[in-house]
Amino acid sequence: MAVRIIRQLATTKQNTRHYSSELKKCTLIPGDGIGPEISAAVQKIFSVAKVPIEWESVDVTPVRGPDGKFGIPQKAIDSVNRNKIGLKGPLMTPVGKGHRSLNLALRKEFSLYANVRPCRSLEGYKTLYDNVDVVTIRENTEGEYSGIEHEIVDGVVQSIKLITEDASRRVAEFAFKYTKENNRKKLTVVHKANIMRMSDGLFLRCCRDTAEKFPDVKFEEKYLDTVCLTMVQDPSQFDVLVMPNLYGDILSDMCAGLVGGLGLTPSGNIGINGALFESVHGTAPDIAGQDKANPTALLLSSVMMLKYMGLNDYANRIQTACFDTIKEAKYLTGDLGGKAKCSEFTNEICNKL
Ligand code: NAD
Repeated sequence: MAVRIIRQLATTKQNTRHYSSELKKCTLIPGDGIGPEISAAVQKIFSVAKVPIEWESVDVTPVRGPDGKFGIPQKAIDSVNRNKIGLKGPLMTPVGKGHRSLNLALRKEFSLYANVRPCRSLEGYKTLYDNVDVVTIRENTEGEYSGIEHEIVDGVVQSIKLITEDASRRVAEFAFKYTKENNRKKLTVVHKANIMRMSDGLFLRCCRDTAEKFPDVKFEEKYLDTVCLTMVQDPSQFDVLVMPNLYGDILSDMCAGLVGGLGLTPSGNIGINGALFESVHGTAPDIAGQDKANPTALLLSSVMMLKYMGLNDYANRIQTACFDTIKEAKYLTGDLGGKAKCSEFTNEICNKL
């Protein structure tokens, strides 16, 4: 089962763009905490694999704009706009004060409307189930993440869950196309339209309408709570899932837990004019700067990026070397129960290329 799953991952498409074999520039946002360590690991592996990519590293430390508010530096925005493709490490978000989430700002700035998170069991790494093979597709620009919050009167605050027809149709279309192009079995729309009748109701209606354009894709509708229950009891019930923003944030982490944790799960933020690939995990401040981080999630995100660029041979070689290193279990990082440093794990992948 696991071997089949790994082979499938090697052929996954994400609305692939084809780039010529000449050196292609990619924006790199190393990020905070463990970000620089795992970014360096990916850069080393790419260099050994001779991937035809030139990294353009940018700093996204917030700067104060003319309106007095903190935001992403213009240089970083220009780089992504120019290259249309980027790899991003995790970014720290201050809780309750300070600058707004830069992750959110990047998604909005570049209209990265679909967040794709494949979660698959890895051969050789024992978890509760060995047959997890799900892809969550999360609407990435609105919902509870719209950032519209205010205090009505002292002690009463309101957060707006914004759902629009345009964004819902756009992500539904992407999800159906993804399911079809990757020969997946079915697409499940996850919602709470029984409670959020208008907002989730609109999202659901857009998915239903889109289903009519894809008669050969099997489509089902499920409540979020039912999906959570079934996912932990029998993940083989699911294949590709599409859902509004907040549900996707939570459900995808749950799926990550089923295959071994955040250190293993990649993601892609796909936009109209480009894409930004990033690991699902955060900055891991508890292990930052100690050469302990697992670079797999960022590396598999970079593999997704290479496939998106049509550089499948490089993607498959790197992915196989990474999976073989995990399967052999000689050099596993702490999160996977091993004692290897991030640099030792990285060197072992390089040795296998
Ligand atoms: P986290 O993912 O950083 O850490 C949770 C746990 O997982 C920690 O024990 C950490 O050591 C471990 N872990 C995470 N990634 C790992 C890796 N690659 N290898 C080994 N262990 C790993 O989550 P958190 O502690 O809730 O968040 C820390 C910071 O990261 C916060 O500021 C949060 O806002 C930010 N964050 C950023 C992103 C992003 O940039 N996409 C995502 C989530 C959290």
